[in-house]
Amino acid sequence: MSGLSIRYWGVRGSVPTPGAGTVRYGGNTSCVEVRTPGGRVIIDAGTGIIPLGQQMTQPEEFGLVLTHLHWDHIQGFPFFLPNYRKGHTIHVYSGHKADVSLESVLKGQMQEPNFPVSLSGLPARLSFNEVPKGERFEVPGARISTVKLNHPNEATGVRFDVDGRRLVHLTDHEHTPEYEDSIVAFCQGADLLSLDTMYTPEEYEQHVGWGHSSWLHGCRIARKAGVRLLVLFHHDPHHGDDFMDEVGKAAGREFSNVIVAREGLELSV
Ligand SMILES: [Zn+2]
Ligand SMILES: [Zn+2]
Repeated sequence: MSGLSIRYWGVRGSVPTPGAGTVRYGGNTSCVEVRTPGGRVIIDAGTGIIPLGQQMTQPEEFGLVLTHLHWDHIQGFPFFLPNYRKGHTIHVYSGHKADVSLESVLKGQMQEPNFPVSLSGLPARLSFNEVPKGERFEVPGARISTVKLNHPNEATGVRFDVDGRRLVHLTDHEHTPEYEDSIVAFCQGADLLSLDTMYTPEEYEQHVGWGHSSWLHGCRIARKAGVRLLVLFHHDPHHGDDFMDEVGKAAGREFSNVIVAREGLELSV
């Protein structure tokens, strides 16, 4: 056990998808928890952050890194219980396109008549920080490297390096030739690469410019960067469990060590 691990609390893109057809992979939107020897870092606040927050009953200081501010990455934030508990100190970071402040976007999500509790009325101590893409920054318990992703309104990919182990989480990203060098370099030698692979290669052709990759893009990046394990992430809300089983099999024929992220999955590197 190296002390570096990732747990998937929400693996879905765009919109939550509860129902009989998604019970195995899960229907919550993007949220993962990375544990380092120094503590935990939460990446994104889709609805997956809600069950995570229910377990965080003890006062804690931690980082919440928002890869960007699209709905599926922030919609769980108003319902995140640590926000409502005195004693929690939450350092929120975001790597969105910085023409508006992170704080103003989260404030806008929590104002009447859309929501009855204001951001400034939350009992937890919150700090708001912008992350310059391509630079490293520190959160409690971790040092994080970043890379600019190809996504409408921009997004930031994150990397954790601990004791010679490397864990990369890239969402949301449309892989194009212009990004090949920077993304492959960022993922080089990763023990685990968790990647937005929302589409099949056929679906991707219909969604060029939408800001998401296919599982085939993921396999190519993983091969070129010498990644040990590729985890397919940010599933299309229209892709049910049986469909995701087939995606996993198809990707497995292109890259030997690939798995499909599902809620509750926890991996150590
Ligand atoms: Zn998304
Ligand atoms: Zn997005």
